[in-house]
Amino acid sequence: MNPVLGILGAGQLGRMLALEAHALGVPVRLLGEPDGSGAQVAATAEGSLDDADAIKRFARGCDVLTVETENVRVDALVDLPCPVWPPPAAIEASQDRVNEKRLFDRLGIPTAPWVPVASDEELAGAVEALGFPFVLKKRRSGFDGRGQVVVKARNEAVPAFRLLGEVPCIAEGFVRFDAELSVLVACPVRGARRVWPVARNVHYVGQLDYCTVLPNDPLQAEAAALGNRVADALGYVGVLTVETFVRGGALVANEIAPRVHNSGHWSIEGAVTSQFANHVRAVLGLPVGPTDAVACAATVNLLGSLPARGDVLAIPGAFFHGYGKSDRPGRKVGHATVLAPSVPRLHERLDRLRQVVGPRG
Ligand code: AMP
Repeated sequence: MNPVLGILGAGQLGRMLALEAHALGVPVRLLGEPDGSGAQVAATAEGSLDDADAIKRFARGCDVLTVETENVRVDALVDLPCPVWPPPAAIEASQDRVNEKRLFDRLGIPTAPWVPVASDEELAGAVEALGFPFVLKKRRSGFDGRGQVVVKARNEAVPAFRLLGEVPCIAEGFVRFDAELSVLVACPVRGARRVWPVARNVHYVGQLDYCTVLPNDPLQAEAAALGNRVADALGYVGVLTVETFVRGGALVANEIAPRVHNSGHWSIEGAVTSQFANHVRAVLGLPVGPTDAVACAATVNLLGSLPARGDVLAIPGAFFHGYGKSDRPGRKVGHATVLAPSVPRLHERLDRLRQVVGPRG
């Protein structure tokens, strides 16, 4: 039997997942915007991921359903005629920053101190509990640094809450981190999980700018244990991402993404099996492949518009990915990865790549 894989979402993650399904000869369908990045490479049903009827209709033509985004109507994912991976409860947990923090608390995983904020009274309580600075974030639908404000002083708190529309928020103590790190775990239906070498991530205004993946990260084992603990708790199948801060040589969990992740794009060329290949394999009930790195790797996001392909590809060990999107300031329109046989060589190549990509902002 050749099962039809359905993917909720037709952005660039759906595109890269679909390309891996094609490689396996697995028919794939997407649900999303007909002009999305993914729609260029796979049959796409037009529909909103907020529309329960559209999801149910779409599911009837699929044998397995997965997601490229956590922002889907999760109540539409129950009682479908096909399995949904990752489990809807995992998707739901990631949709609400307070639920995420409660999950970390329950598992004894350290986080920034946090307080739910849904009113001016709770905001005043958060100010007393956290001091300054703290980060006020919308509980739901925030991503890439959107829907959050750093509050540096007492008189900034109420305006920040107003700016976010007074929707339910979470206030988090500001973590003075030394670095940011993400861990990705490939979780098959049966058999052993695999963890990729961790990525060290550098953000620009809340959005991933570039990441590096180097051998023997001192926090690899701790990060893998953390990722496995979250995967266990969620009964997870597929690729799971946990984003963390590194402070004083230890991990402080920030958030989970129930999907492939921008900080795992390096694995397309840099690992024995990419995050996209392993996600597709996992949700289809196939064994996941080795996640070892084949070299030192770095990925730079291409934001706003694409640089000249030739300039990127002139760098030794460089790979270019365009997502087929139109230009818009700050929009993720592609990424480029460089591989190198040693850490100093990687940094040389990454510096060249970042010069080609140009300054942010
Ligand atoms: P998030 O949407 O939670 O991933 O936040 C986007 C980025 O904002 C993170 O990757 C950090 O660079 C920064 N950030 C978020 N929360 C905090 C925090 N509590 N303390 C310090 N920086 C934060």
